[in-house]
Amino acid sequence: VLRLNGVRKSFNGVEVLKGISFDVNRHEVVALLGPSGSGKSTLMKCVNLLEQVDDGQIWLGDTDITDPRADQDRIRARIGVVFQQFNLFPHMTVLKNVTLAARKVHHWPKDKADARALELLDRIGMRAKAGAYPDQLSGGQQQRVAIARALMTDPELLLLDEITSALDPMLVGEVLTMVAELKEQGTTILMATHEMGFAHDAADRVVLLRGGVIAENGTPREVMDESQDPATREFFSHFR
Ligand code: ATP
Ligand code: MG
Repeated sequence: VLRLNGVRKSFNGVEVLKGISFDVNRHEVVALLGPSGSGKSTLMKCVNLLEQVDDGQIWLGDTDITDPRADQDRIRARIGVVFQQFNLFPHMTVLKNVTLAARKVHHWPKDKADARALELLDRIGMRAKAGAYPDQLSGGQQQRVAIARALMTDPELLLLDEITSALDPMLVGEVLTMVAELKEQGTTILMATHEMGFAHDAADRVVLLRGGVIAENGTPREVMDESQDPATREFFSHFR
């Protein structure tokens, strides 16, 4: 589904991504791990076309999305994105939030967008909240709505960037449970996270960024439990 090939990205002469190559295969959940500042969000933004790569290619299926001639709106419709916070517009109802991009960017008619949104909200037990405003929901409910919105156009890939790190610890579980359910349904997910327990139990593969390069790429067990690399072991020792 996704292939990164030698992706490089600098800010003000400082190279954050120094040639990143890895794949995310269909139905796979890949956890992107690494210390703060290691470039996880930068990498996600390159995939979502919020940042331009300096060098290398990113393939989504057969499309080279780093090709300047690529149709950016079409590509974005194929990728669902949820960030750490500020995902919902506070002055719009849940239903309006969920349908907005589908209607404005992808020009879906209102009844099609509403029907799809209500189906998704139903699936996550939030249909009764369709008319509520974000501040009437818990943080966990807001993030679940944000995930539902990201699924509107049935994306080939879901990008989740630290979606639980702004949440009250009590609310982290319900959001991670939703991610685990999506995995069961076969959704392809690339998620940056500091939730090591979840990455260990739910990810098919973990990719560890360090110093702008991929330090590890393997199963959670290979990388988190069995790596012989001293720096990798040191990194995970903080989360035990
Ligand atoms: P965290 O775990 O804290 O979310 P991260 O791995 O997501 O960290 P990034 O946000 O990708 O890290 O940042 C990587 C580096 O790139 C940091 O040093 C950051 O300051 C720098 N950086 C990111 N975006 C920009 C930007 N738009 N302009 C300048 N520097 C940036
Ligand atoms: Mg980040």
